[in-house]
Amino acid sequence: MAKTQGTLAGRKLRGFFDVPGTEVSIPYTDVRGAADGPTLLLSGGVHGGEYPGIAAAIEIARRLEPGEIKGRVIVLHLTNPPAFWGRSQYYNPLDGKNLNRCFPGDAAGSASERMAARVIAVLREADYWIDMHGGDIHEALVPFTIFSDYGKEEVRRTAQAMAEAYGIPRLIRSASVAGGSYAAAAELGVPAILPEAGQLGQLDPCNQGIHEQGVLNVLRLLGMLSGSTTLHLSPQIYTRFVWSRAPQAGFWRSRVHPGERVEAGAIGGVLHDVYGDLLHEIAVPETGEVLFAASSFAIGADDPLFAVAAP
Ligand SMILES: [Zn+2]
Repeated sequence: MAKTQGTLAGRKLRGFFDVPGTEVSIPYTDVRGAADGPTLLLSGGVHGGEYPGIAAAIEIARRLEPGEIKGRVIVLHLTNPPAFWGRSQYYNPLDGKNLNRCFPGDAAGSASERMAARVIAVLREADYWIDMHGGDIHEALVPFTIFSDYGKEEVRRTAQAMAEAYGIPRLIRSASVAGGSYAAAAELGVPAILPEAGQLGQLDPCNQGIHEQGVLNVLRLLGMLSGSTTLHLSPQIYTRFVWSRAPQAGFWRSRVHPGERVEAGAIGGVLHDVYGDLLHEIAVPETGEVLFAASSFAIGADDPLFAVAAP
């Protein structure tokens, strides 16, 4: 896997990846270690309102020096600039699509599909991917890390080791999510994780720190940075991650909170119409732990309401 960094070894480069056929430019920092080693892609802001992951990407890019790493770290500071500047939840305002359902993308498609294709072109130079997320502007969330249980055995095993090293004690072993980053990576044989920390449109230092420490830990695990990784000895591994979605648009009141244990069949929240008449009681689908819940009063048809994880 080791690759030579060529004449750019020992340099830190800044620039933009232009997305052909759009006005979008994705800012990056490319840290080329003085010593050879693998390449890791680190992305923040695939969803533009998940601020701690974006701030962590900026901080890691500033902090990593070529002299201290083996190999190369490519940081995408803000992968979805239109969603960030538009303060848009889930969706890219240029085409109304969720970028994390567009991978591996299409260089001749809509804006999000073209952006996804550009990111995958960068990923083709990488051996590992960390795609930092969090609860969106209207989502309360307790931190967790998803790793792909898809593709070759070695890729899956490495993805799980990366997820454990990231340090968040809740892990989700996930089969393929169509269009998702880690599934597209697994297709290419690249181990990938999707850590989630942050919530409710807040840029809080605690969740930013969870991401920063997690990235440094994974770099240590991969031998790209010196020092030892602090491992949680017994992370909770969930294999089921069940999302409840709104059967129709309405006025939402959640009755569950992230981190809370819930029983299948309990009422997870209620949806009313504009006159306050009840439209739906949303039952908890599974006994387990709530990992996120929508805080927004306004909910569109098919929007995620809350999610429960179970072993
Ligand atoms: Zn996200």
